[in-house]
Amino acid sequence: MEVSGLDSDGKEFKNAEEMWREQIGEDGEQQEKKTQWYREGISYWEGVEASVDGVLGGFGNVNEVDIKGSEAFLQMLLSDRFPNARNNQHLVALDCGSGIGRITKNLLIRYFNEVDLLEPVSHFLDAARESLAPENHMAPDMHKATNFFCVPLQDFTPETGRYDVVWVQWCIGHLTDDDFVSFFKRAKVGLKPGGFFVLKENIARSGSEGIT
Ligand code: SAH
Repeated sequence: MEVSGLDSDGKEFKNAEEMWREQIGEDGEQQEKKTQWYREGISYWEGVEASVDGVLGGFGNVNEVDIKGSEAFLQMLLSDRFPNARNNQHLVALDCGSGIGRITKNLLIRYFNEVDLLEPVSHFLDAARESLAPENHMAPDMHKATNFFCVPLQDFTPETGRYDVVWVQWCIGHLTDDDFVSFFKRAKVGLKPGGFFVLKENIARSGSEGIT
């Protein structure tokens, strides 16, 4: 699909291929440019305050409506896929690109017995660890945040068959197209039978948007 768009500096690209060619280059130079692409992504977030407003790019007021919408969606999927969950099933989720743990704290921990968080920016993950510590957070019925992985998605392979839900929200745009595909291929092995991915992203009404 040929969709033109602007990057965050206002530079126009004819299509996504052209944007990627400039950002990560042709085959030969790819590795170095790719490393640079990921370095810039991380260093942007390293300069952002560890708060709800920070991880939502200044739109902290979106938190409530985001969680409400996600909760309705999750409830629908859970009752469809795991009708017996309330009885004895031990549900485990992975919160990818978790930032400060906003989604885990406001949503996932209420539905899953265990939640693992994956976040490459250490000051975000530290904030998540702190706010989800049992002494700071009342989780229902022994529900808990178990693992805090400080790695980026493109370098992560989950433990086989651990997760009922792998939640990926507002972070997948950091991955190059090939890493996007290989992440889902690798992460699939982390799902339990009947488990599923949730991918939540903003989409452009017209054109395309790049974070460069
Ligand atoms: N999902 C969280 C945070 C959104 S902000 C929420 O909705 O509250 C985007 C997050 O993606 C930041 O925490 C940022 O550090 C993380 N991120 C950036 N590059 C990433 C990568 N390569 N892999 C995984 N997460 C990444």
